[in-house]
Amino acid sequence: MRLLIVEDDQELTTLLQQRFKAAGFAVDLAHNGMDGQFMGEEIDYDAIILDLGLPQKNGIEVLKAWRAKPILTPVIVLTARDAWHERVDGFKAGADDYLGKPFHFEELLVRIQALIRRAHQAVTPNNILDCCGLKLDEDHQTVTTADGMTHELTGKEFRLLRYFMLHPNQILTKSRLTDHVYEYDTDRDSNVIEVYVRHLRRMIGTDRIVTKRGQGYSLIT
Ligand code: CA
Repeated sequence: MRLLIVEDDQELTTLLQQRFKAAGFAVDLAHNGMDGQFMGEEIDYDAIILDLGLPQKNGIEVLKAWRAKPILTPVIVLTARDAWHERVDGFKAGADDYLGKPFHFEELLVRIQALIRRAHQAVTPNNILDCCGLKLDEDHQTVTTADGMTHELTGKEFRLLRYFMLHPNQILTKSRLTDHVYEYDTDRDSNVIEVYVRHLRRMIGTDRIVTKRGQGYSLIT
């Protein structure tokens, strides 16, 4: 899952980036409205966290520009506590959810997870993603297979498997998987995807992730 955070408070963004990475997200940061708008238009994010008070272009204008395109990525806006008019403006501009500052990271995380699951119509209780005979526990980063075996996943394995499970039976190219499993600016050697696919096959069964020669991989339901 690839997340964009548009927020000018650098202390806050650094903290959020660390926490979201630990929760299995690839995270990109933008510190002003212009950069944020550009990145939201250029990159296919799974969700966006958007502050409203931003330099260069405010969050409402950025959101309106995305929705006019239309870019329909789920967006949660960060608003000043008790500023009900900001929340109304946010929803009118096309926000999917809001959170008042200051907030607890745990609440932001579950709201983002809920937005992403809703966008993929995979609504499940207890942060368990249930698809394809697999149960992925987002809190503990484990997968339980149909035979009842539970496997612990590394951060990269977890991110990769979650992406497969949210896009079952679709051919996913290595470059698309790289985009959603790694951050924008880190080493993007797509050969490592092969290594992690091999790890996943060992856990969930070799025939579950099919190689489409010259195209990519597909998780078969
Ligand atoms: Ca701000």
